[in-house]
Amino acid sequence: MSGCDCHSAHGPALLPVDTAIARMLQALQPVQDRESVALNAALGRILAEPLVAPLALPGADNSAMDGFAVRAADLPAEGTARLPIAQRIVAGQAGTPLAPGTAARIFTGAPLPPGADTVVMQERCRWDDSHVLISGPGRPGQHIRRRGEDVQEGEPLLDAGRRLQPQDLALAAALGVDRLSVWRRPRVTILSTGDELVEPGQPLAPGQIYGSNRYLLGALLATLGCEVRDLGIVADTLDATRAALAAAADNADLVISSGGVSVGEEDHVKAAVESLGRLSLWKVAIKPGKPLAFGTVAGTPFLGLPGNPSSLFVTFLVLARPLLHRLQGRTPASVHGEWLAADFDWPRPDPRCEYLRARRVEDGPAVTRVAIHRQQSSGALAPASWADGLVELAPGQAVRQGEPVRFLSFAQLLA
Ligand code: AMP
Ligand code: MG
Repeated sequence: MSGCDCHSAHGPALLPVDTAIARMLQALQPVQDRESVALNAALGRILAEPLVAPLALPGADNSAMDGFAVRAADLPAEGTARLPIAQRIVAGQAGTPLAPGTAARIFTGAPLPPGADTVVMQERCRWDDSHVLISGPGRPGQHIRRRGEDVQEGEPLLDAGRRLQPQDLALAAALGVDRLSVWRRPRVTILSTGDELVEPGQPLAPGQIYGSNRYLLGALLATLGCEVRDLGIVADTLDATRAALAAAADNADLVISSGGVSVGEEDHVKAAVESLGRLSLWKVAIKPGKPLAFGTVAGTPFLGLPGNPSSLFVTFLVLARPLLHRLQGRTPASVHGEWLAADFDWPRPDPRCEYLRARRVEDGPAVTRVAIHRQQSSGALAPASWADGLVELAPGQAVRQGEPVRFLSFAQLLA
């Protein structure tokens, strides 16, 4: 997603972001099971079969106005026509053929009677129970919604792989389609490693911290449309980590862990995964977030994200997001980003791709700049709530106030 080419700025020890994503994508298959869901349960689901129009919309020529349906030839170029009102057609009814020299009272959405070729809006008419006075000429086709002008029968409308939007559900409903075939949601099991972690609501002993990653990770996955199973906090021992990972792999499409992927003595994810499957441990050229583990546990794909909250947040958005799209059967959504003028200086760049927690600053109607939070530490969480997106800097990219930088909004990243 990033276009960050991190090769040039450093040696081979760091894996470029795009290479890491490509390697993971290669090893991952989309979920293959389909489900048929009712329209009111289909929002945000990924369409498994294209939607092809089973009928035309509108299904018949109909009036776009409240007024009178007539033959244009019955209206004079100048002056006023006086026509008998031969019928009254409301939405939901079908009219009868319109005899020459007569008018039909008609309402918005009502089908045009055969023979009529124009609708005169009621503001141009005066009428009583039996006759209507129409001033001025009529143009054939005016105020008529033609059969098929919105959708033609057999027209392909929505592609497989599309994430269903509210308007898509309306389109299906308008076509009489009551259920859609979607891919089953990916089942993702998460676990948080760390002896220091305590659940919010519990008392803290000295040295302990409240674990936040399971809430971050769980909510990010739910936002993207995954079914989340959370195994909670796992102690920093090889046995506990191995047991948790084995349980996590059961009936899951992906296992994601937080923490424990560095190479310290208290980091057991590497050894645990290796004993249950395969593992690659990479130093990805991303800041925050460098250590990343990817592999399989008992045949289930596994992703090990860093424990630092901001690292977890950034690596999820940048590295895990494309994998989840892939699992979902979703057409890859590229994030275009916006080029905005920097409202900051960044004089000492990193050799890795940097993702700074950032926020748009509206500066009048046509000027938007982007500011960054002063605290960019990988452990800090508050900047992520302050921010509405990330500034992406290429390896080694220094920034001076006013220069354009690429901004990726959370709204787009999590769409
Ligand atoms: P680790 O990746 O396990 O070395 O952890 C890196 C840092 O992230 C340490 O300061 C941990 O205390 C912190 N950390 C790890 N897991 C969590 C979590 N679930 N919630 C909050 N902080 C965490
Ligand atoms: Mg740890």
